[in-house]
Amino acid sequence: MNLKLDKSSKLYEEANLYTPGGVHTSIRNVEPHLVFNRAEGAYIYDVDGNRYIDYQAAFGPFILGHNNRYVNSKVIENLSREDLFGTGTTELEIELSKLICKHVPSAEQVLFCNSGSEATYHAIRLSRAITERTKIIKFQGCYHGWHDYVARNMLSPWDKIGKRDPGSAGMLDEAIDNTLICTFNDLEDVEQTFKQNQGQIAALIVEPIPHNIGCILPQSGFLAGLRKLCSEYGALLIFDEVITGFRHDLGGFQKIAGITPDITTMGKAMANGFPIAAIAGKKEYMSRFNTQPGGDVWFAGTYNGHAVGTSAALATMQLMETAPVHKHVFRLGDRVRVGIRDILDRLGIEGYVAGFGSVWTTYFMNFEPKNYIDLQHNDAEFYVSFRKKLLEKGIFKLPMNLKRNHISYSHTEADIDYTLDVIEAVLREMKK
Ligand code: PMP
Repeated sequence: MNLKLDKSSKLYEEANLYTPGGVHTSIRNVEPHLVFNRAEGAYIYDVDGNRYIDYQAAFGPFILGHNNRYVNSKVIENLSREDLFGTGTTELEIELSKLICKHVPSAEQVLFCNSGSEATYHAIRLSRAITERTKIIKFQGCYHGWHDYVARNMLSPWDKIGKRDPGSAGMLDEAIDNTLICTFNDLEDVEQTFKQNQGQIAALIVEPIPHNIGCILPQSGFLAGLRKLCSEYGALLIFDEVITGFRHDLGGFQKIAGITPDITTMGKAMANGFPIAAIAGKKEYMSRFNTQPGGDVWFAGTYNGHAVGTSAALATMQLMETAPVHKHVFRLGDRVRVGIRDILDRLGIEGYVAGFGSVWTTYFMNFEPKNYIDLQHNDAEFYVSFRKKLLEKGIFKLPMNLKRNHISYSHTEADIDYTLDVIEAVLREMKK
C-alpha cells in the first residue's frame, strides 16, 4: 500500500479494543483499515490527511455530496427552535409527508422511522396483517436490512444461492423459513413460487434495481410481471426504494418504470446522509397502523420524526426540486460509463459496465448479468485488486466485490476526468 496510514493504523488498533472488529457495521471491516475525520462535497479525508474522491457515498445517501451547506443550515436553523416531541406531530413532519405524497406515485400516506431496515420490517409486518398470510418472497442478491425476515441471500456463497446462508446465527428458523428466495428477472420462477404456495404469500419485496449487487437492470416486462403476479395471487408488492428512491427520481424508480407498488420503503438519499427513513402506501393499507385509533399493526419509535431527519429530508428534497441535481448526476453517470467502456475496449479487457443514472459498476465478465447467478462469472479477484489500486490513487469505491459507485451533485467534470485517467492507468498496469 503506497498510502501513508500511520495514524489510521494506530487508531484502528485502539478501536479493536473497544469494538468487535473495530467497526460498527458488518461490512466496514476491510483493508486497509481507515479512520476518517473529514467529509466535504465529493471528498472524504482520513486522519493521515489522505483525500479520496468518494464514490461509496456511505452506501448511497449522499446525493448532494457530503456536508451540504444548505441542508446543514436548515438542520441547524430548525434545531435552534425544536428537537423531538413524544406526543402529537410537528409542522416539519406534516410538510415532509405532503412532499413525499406529492412525488411518490404509491404514497397516499407515509410514516417516518429511522432506518431502511425499520421501514422494510414494518412493510412486511403490515403485509402479513393485511393478507393474514405468513410467507414472503425476496430475491437472491437483494438487500433489505438486518432483521430476521430479510437478512439472507444477499451476497451468498456460490453454493448457497437460494439456500440458507451462513451468518444467520441467532435468527428464528421460522422467520428464515417463511422467506422464499427467487431469481431476479425470472418471472417463471416467481410464478412457480406463487403456485406452490397458493394463499400463503403475504408480500413480494424487491429492489426495483438490485443495487446491492451493483446494478442489475430489470428486464423489459419484469417489474410489470411482478405487479401482475402479486395482484393475481393476492400478495402485496413492496418496492424497496431505499437506494433507488430520490437518487434516481424524486418519485423513485416506480415513477420512471411506471409501475406502482402497494407499499414503498425509502431512506438514504431522502435526507442526504441524515438518519430518517419512511414507509408509504395506499391509505387503505397505511391506516392499519396503530398510529391511527383502531389500527392494529404496531408502529412506534422514540426518535421517529426527529427534527434532524425531517429538516434534512425537507431541505434535500427542496434542493432536488429546484436545482438540476438529477440532470447533473445522470450526465456524469453517463460520462463515467461511456468512458470506462471505451477504456476496456481500447485495452482489450473483458468487462461489462452497468449502471443507471448516478450509479455505475464495472463487472469483469463478458456479458450483461441478469441476476446474482450470472455474477459468478465476474472476476472477483481482479475487481478487488482494481479497487485497491484506485484507492491508492485517491478514488474511493465500495470495498466489496459486486458493489456499486455513486455520483453526487458535488462531483465535478474534473473529478470524472481524473477518475477516468486513473482507471485507464490502473487497468493498463493490471493488464500487463
Ligand atoms: N433496503 C435497501 C435496498 C438497502 O440498500 C438498505 C441498506 N443498504 C436497507 C434496506 C437497509 O437500510 P438501513 O441500513 O438504513 O437499515
